[in-house]
This record gives sequence, C-alpha cells and structure tokens, in this order.
Amino acid sequence: MALIPRRRLVVVGYGMVAHRLLADLSGAQGEEWQVTVLAEENRPAYDRVNLSHYFDSTDPDALLLDPTGLVDARIELGDPVIGIDRENATVRTRSGRRFGYDALVLATGSDPFVPPIEGRDGGGTFVYRTIEDLDDIRERAGRSQTGVVVGGGLLGLEAANALRTLGVATHVVEMANWLMPQQLDEGGGQLLRRHIEALGLTVHLGAPTASVRVDESGEVSGVTLADGNHIAADLVLFSAGVRPRDQLARDCGLAVGERGGISVDVSCRTSDPNIYAIGECAHIDGRVYGLVAPGNAMADVLADRLGGGSAVFSDPDTSTKLKLLGVDVASFGDAFAQLPGALDLVYSDPVAGTYGKLVVTDDAQTLLGGILVGDAEAYPTLRAMVGGPLPEAPAELILPAREGAPQLELPAGAQVCSCNDVSKGAICAAIAEHELRGVPGVKKCTKAGTSCGSCVPLVKKILDGELKKAGVAVSSAICEHFAFSRAQLFDIVRITGITTFSKLISEHGQGRGCDLCKPAVASILASLGGGHILDGEQAALQDTNDHFLANLQKNGTYSVVPRLPGGEVTPDKLLAIAQVAKDFNLYTKITGGQRIDMFGARVEQLPEIWRRLVDAGLESGHAYGKALRTVKSCVGSTWCRFGVQDSTTMAIMLELRYRGLRAPHKIKSGVSGCARECAEARGKDFGVIATDKGWNLFLGGNGGFTPRHAELFARDLDEATLIRYIDRFLMFYVRTADRLQRTAPWIQSLEGGVDYLRGVIVEDSLGIAAELDAAMQRHVDSYSDEWRAVLEDPVKLRRYVSFVNAPDVPDPSISFVSERDQIRPALIAGPELQVVSA
Ligand SMILES: Cc1cc2nc3c(=O)[nH]c(=O)nc-3n(C[C@H](O)[C@H](O)[C@H](O)COP(=O)(O)OP(=O)(O)OC[C@H]3O[C@@H](n4cnc5c(N)ncnc54)[C@H](O)[C@@H]3O)c2cc1C
Ligand code: SF4
Repeated sequence: MALIPRRRLVVVGYGMVAHRLLADLSGAQGEEWQVTVLAEENRPAYDRVNLSHYFDSTDPDALLLDPTGLVDARIELGDPVIGIDRENATVRTRSGRRFGYDALVLATGSDPFVPPIEGRDGGGTFVYRTIEDLDDIRERAGRSQTGVVVGGGLLGLEAANALRTLGVATHVVEMANWLMPQQLDEGGGQLLRRHIEALGLTVHLGAPTASVRVDESGEVSGVTLADGNHIAADLVLFSAGVRPRDQLARDCGLAVGERGGISVDVSCRTSDPNIYAIGECAHIDGRVYGLVAPGNAMADVLADRLGGGSAVFSDPDTSTKLKLLGVDVASFGDAFAQLPGALDLVYSDPVAGTYGKLVVTDDAQTLLGGILVGDAEAYPTLRAMVGGPLPEAPAELILPAREGAPQLELPAGAQVCSCNDVSKGAICAAIAEHELRGVPGVKKCTKAGTSCGSCVPLVKKILDGELKKAGVAVSSAICEHFAFSRAQLFDIVRITGITTFSKLISEHGQGRGCDLCKPAVASILASLGGGHILDGEQAALQDTNDHFLANLQKNGTYSVVPRLPGGEVTPDKLLAIAQVAKDFNLYTKITGGQRIDMFGARVEQLPEIWRRLVDAGLESGHAYGKALRTVKSCVGSTWCRFGVQDSTTMAIMLELRYRGLRAPHKIKSGVSGCARECAEARGKDFGVIATDKGWNLFLGGNGGFTPRHAELFARDLDEATLIRYIDRFLMFYVRTADRLQRTAPWIQSLEGGVDYLRGVIVEDSLGIAAELDAAMQRHVDSYSDEWRAVLEDPVKLRRYVSFVNAPDVPDPSISFVSERDQIRPALIAGPELQVVSA
C-alpha cells in the first residue's frame, strides 16, 4: 500500500501561541502534517505572561512551557525566518536555509513599541519582552539608583514593580490622566495610583515623555516630560504598548491592517490561502490583541481548520488582572459600558481603598463586565458570570463580604479560565472522570489555570466544592504551590530553620509562588524571628503597609503611630509627639486603641520623623502590621475608686511582652480594672478583666464585619498563670490559624472551640505547652524595634524617597489636609453607591 506523503506545515515563531498550536495538533488534526518550527529565540517556548517571575528564580528553564503532549515537530531554534517566497512556497532563514511548505503559519508575536523620541537608544534604555531583556535589566539595575518606566499600563506597572524589587527607586510616567487607562475608568485608575504609590513607586500622570536625556558617554541621565519636568534617572524602561511583527508579511505582499498586524479572516487565513497568522502578529476582526487568550483561541481555530474542520474565531475574552503582590486590580468584559443601554453600578470606598464597578444590561438582568480595584477576590467568579443572569441584588456582587450575603453559584457553562477557554462544567467533569484531588491534576487535565493563573483560586473553589459533594476530604493546602496548610508550613519553617521564601518553595513547594503563599510565608518567617521584615528578599514579600512600616492613608500620605504601652504616656513623650506633629504639619488624633496617630507624612519624611520619635524614647507601634497592635487599659485601682487591680500596669506589661509578634492577622487586647469594663476588653482578641481574686481571661473577641464578644476562658487567675495562658494562646494561634484568619473565626474553626483550646492551653492535651512557652520566650528575648533598625541601616533607608535625586521635593499630586474641619466631611462621607447610565 502506497503511503500518502504528509503535508509540510512550517510555523514561524515559537512563542506562547505557536506552542498552543503544537499542543492542539497533537490530536487527530496533526497526523497528516509534518511540522517544522523555525524560532528566532534560542530556547523553546516559555511563559511570557509570567516573565517577571524570572527575577525570582533566575532559572530560565523554570519558565519553559510544558513540552509534554505536543505534536511531533522539528524545532529549529535561534534561526529566524528572514523572507517568504510565496511563488515557490518556501521560507528562508538567517543562516541561509530554505524550508518548503504546504501551509505556513506566522506566529511572530509583537515588538515592544518605543516612542520616536530623542535619546531613546541611549545606554541604559530597555524594553520588557524576553528573558534576555530581563537579564540586561537586572545587570543594569545592580548599578542604578533610579529608573523611569515609560507607560503606566498593565505591563508598565508590572515592569515598574520588577525594578522596585531589584532595589531601584522607580518612577512611572503615564500620558493619560490615570493608570491602566485601557482597562480602568478614572475612578478605578485614581484609586490604583494610591495602591501603586504605597508600593513605593512614584507616579506621574498626564505627562507624555518628551525625550530621554543622554550624557556625553551616551548613557541615560533622565527623562524630560512634555510639561517641562525632568526626572533624573540612570535606567529607562519603555513599556508603551506593542506593535505586531508583520514585516515578513509586508515584504511578501500579504495584506496588513491599517495600523499594522497581518490581516486574517475568522479562520486565521491571510490574503494568501496557504498562509495563516495567529497570536499577537495577527489582525483579526478589525483589531490586534496583546493578550494570550485571543491568541490561544486563534491557535484552536487554526488546528481545527488544519484538520479539515470549520471552526471560526469569535469574541475572545480580554479580561485582565494586574499581577502585583498586594495590589488587586481586575477588568473584564465590557468594562467601559460601551454596549448600548449598558448601566454602571459603582461601589466606591476610598477609606477602605476599594472600588468596584459592574456593567449590566439596561434591565439589570445580565452582567456585561466590570472593574475591581483594591479587592479583586470576586474577579474569577464575576468574570465567569459575564453574559449570564445576575442575582436579584447585583450590588451584592461588589459590596464588601458580610454575614448573610448571598453565595454565588456558577452555572456549568460559565467560563472559568479565559486564557484556555475552560468552563466550570468541563472542570467538574474532569474531576469526576479522572478522580482528581488537587489543582495540579485539574490543570493538567483541563489546561485551566495554566496561563496567566488568575483563575486558579476559582478552580480550587470549584474543586473543593465538588470534593465536598462527593464526600471526599478537602485539601487544606494553602495554594497550589505548597501542598500544606499554613499551620503545616509554619512547622516546616520552624523545624528546618529555613529563612527565605525561595529556599522554602524550592525545597517544599513548587512553582514560583502567588499572592496567597507569599505574604503568608512572609508572616511565618517574621513570626519565627527570621530577621527584619525589610531584609533581603523578605522585603518584596510584604504587603503594602509593611513595605514602608507606615499606614498608607486615602490621600497618598502616611500615618505614624508610636507605641504607647497600655495607653500611658509621659509629658516628655507627649511634648516630643506634639513637636514632631507641629514641625511636619501633621494632623493628630487619638486612636481607638489609645494611641496618638499623626497623619499626613510624606514617604521621604518618615525616617526623620521616626528619628526624632526614637530619640525621644518612642518605638514602632506596628499599626501597619499583622501583629500585636495595642493593649488598651482603664486607669484601674491606681486612680479609680471602683478598681480592684492595677489594670494599667498589667496592660503595659502585656503590650511590652507581645509587641512585634507577627501573626496571621492583627491582634488587639484590653485590660479593665473591674467588671465595669471601661477598657472594653471583651471586644478584643484577648481581654483581661480584674476580679478581687485575680484576673479573668477572655479569648476571641473581634471587630470587623462580624463582631464577636470574647468568651470567658479562665477565672481568677494569678498574674503568672494569666501570662502563661496568653503566651500559649497567642503562639498556638500564630502557628495554626489560616492566613488572614482572626482569632474569633480561628477558635470557631477548632473542633470543640474554646473547650478544645482550654485542653491545649491548660491541660496540655497536645503535649506542646512547653514548646509554646519556649517559643514565646524566644520572641520576647529577641524583640527589637523595627524603626530603630531602619534608621541604623542605609540600605533600608534608601526606599524612603519620593524623588531620589531631589529628596526635598514633595510629590505634587499629594494633597495635605491639616484642618480638622476640612478633613471631617471626607471622613464621614463614607462609601457611596450610585447607578448611572453609560
Ligand atoms: C511581561 C509580560 C507580561 C504579560 N502578561 C500578560 C497577562 O497577564 N495576560 C495576557 O493575556 N498576556 C500577557 N502578556 C502578553 C502575552 O505574553 C502575549 O500575548 C503572548 O505571549 C503572545 O503570544 P505569541 O505567540 O503571539 O507571541 P510571542 O509569545 O511573543 O512569540 C512570538 C515568537 O516569535 C518569534 N519570532 C518573531 N519573528 C520571527 C521570525 N521572523 N522568525 C522566527 N521567529 C520569530 C519571537 O522571537 C517570539 O519568540 C504579557 C507579556 C509580557 C511581555
Ligand atoms: S473598669 Fe472599673 S476600674 Fe477600670 S475605670 Fe472602669 S470602673 Fe474604674
């Protein structure tokens, strides 16, 4: 029997979309093709979406896309195609080789766009697209002080964050009036700015870059903005959009879009019936896409067509989510309400730093899109609901979580992973069919979550739900990168003595980590005394407030809260605080935790403010940290005629004992001198109330959305026993609670609740009491003031700048409010909910 020769398929470019095509062709479609891939880069396809992770691992192989299950193909690396001869159906590579084709696929991606401005080629200018770009940036960052990123879009912010973690003071210049103008409306963009500045980045808006300044040696010395302002810098990174790589197509006379991109029809075919284009280089349906999901959709269509099918490209998902640690931003569907009759439903809470917008049809029946800033937890669920029916009260979808709020159930047809077009139904079917028990299995079987990763939390939620329904024990793993709960991870760190995230994930986890595991590990390392929280790679794991050891406020300034143990303060310390507040023009207020908060400090003022406070004998109050905040007290028996014990001394002693203890969440306490409870101790994580025989101890009182009174744990304790019990309670909580779990839900989650806790703490039912005691003693012995350490370390001090080269110049965008009458309306205005027509 004569064999039918296989047809020759040549693919130009081996990026993410070409890789997807090879995976798609591994089925029946690929059998009749003899595939050759001609690649410009020297390595097989890698995960460009997660390129920034290369700065974490420095191992380029860690980014390579999974090569299993691809169609058999000859792959030629490092030899780009430089010409297409359509007449003879061949392509020519740079090394002079020729390859004949029956079908040719162009998957050449994009080039970063560098605006045609003076100085753009100076030494120290970069783009952000390949592993080699990142190698060059890292090398330069090692000898740079200040960097400017031109472009405040999704990629620009990601690049800026990368520069920041490389220790470069970073400015972002965006010509629009707000950040991420392609994805966010003005309200969302303005709020994002505050979050970005909290990371330590300086933002310049409404200012196109006019030129890059270059010195006599050809090296960049800064950028000049169109408004005349100059930013001194020794590194400039362009992230001002991308341009499709269509030169090969132009040179051989294929049709291209008006603004670039190789024109293709809905089957991905170019103006030559034997040539196709997919991915970022293609101009399809009147536009080019700079995202991987539409590219993957094109690869799927093409694979089907090459196998004789009739698939067509339609309506790709262009949802995006910013990938910066601690800055949640998401934009999906018709985010700008462009469809006729679309309505906006906006929830904005500037105090909490959250902004949510839902775009719905005019009958409020169907979700069309939305924007989330500050809290994007609902993003995967909302994105999956686009095009589907809304619940009765759609506002619930973006209002803060609270008890009694309706739970959302996704329909089976809802798309969960937009990059790979995987529905909830497909995930549930794979879980049942292959008896999957973990997220990695689901990813492998369905491809969900294997590209940008933003849907992974939803995949996990669906998996947990399905396992629960099937009566299978649900994994308590913190995320897909660690097969352990937070408590187990805590034990691993404790027993192994590991002090860095990179070592922990390389030895006990997998992948590169995410927004769930990174801050959780940062907290564990801090709880176990893993050095100063701004030391080395620890600094990059911290949430925004911890990053500057100060609390970011709604106008972009910071507040400063020195510790006043038990609420007691001497006249000299009061004078020192007053003088600092006066000299720096800070608004002062007594907090609910009996301290003095000074508002309105600029980031570069923080070290000087703290230097003066530390000189006056004050120290960090950890108001910014997931740590012990305050131990509030009443005046007790020293002054009050009802007092039966010295509550103030007890509160001071407790606050000094537990100060600096890092925990899954903030911890508050109170001590009252008698049952009248003036210190409101029962609203605290641990509360102490004096009796005439000693002290009653209450545990698990929390504020928040579901306030809870603390429960009585033990009565009439003597001082030593009281402290022993609190030591054990706190250490057991620190070790075993989930990330961001406060003490009340933690106690509720323990089988047996407070009774179980009593067993552990009082009766030593787990045999760990001595260990908990020793751990707390280690904490007490090793405490040192975080702010004093910053002041003594020039490297840590480097981060406290608005403008590195002009430290005295404040950020002009920050507004200052010093009069109480001015600030009051803003404080009491609270969240607003409005419905407006688009
Ligand atoms: C830092 C970063 C973060 C990103 N984050 C996201 C995100 O969160 N979500 C998202 O959806 N997208 C994101 N993207 C975009 C996403 O990476 C791209 O959409 C995707 O890589 C496009 O795939 P592609 O195959 O079309 O192009 P590419 O992946 O760029 O591959 C094209 C390949 O073709 C090669 N090539 C070009 N010309 C030739 C030639 N003549 N001969 C041979 N080879 C050639 C190139 O060298 C390249 O290797 C991000 C991109 C970057 C850079
Ligand atoms: S709690 Fe009791 S001791 Fe303390 S101030 Fe109130 S009345 Fe006085």
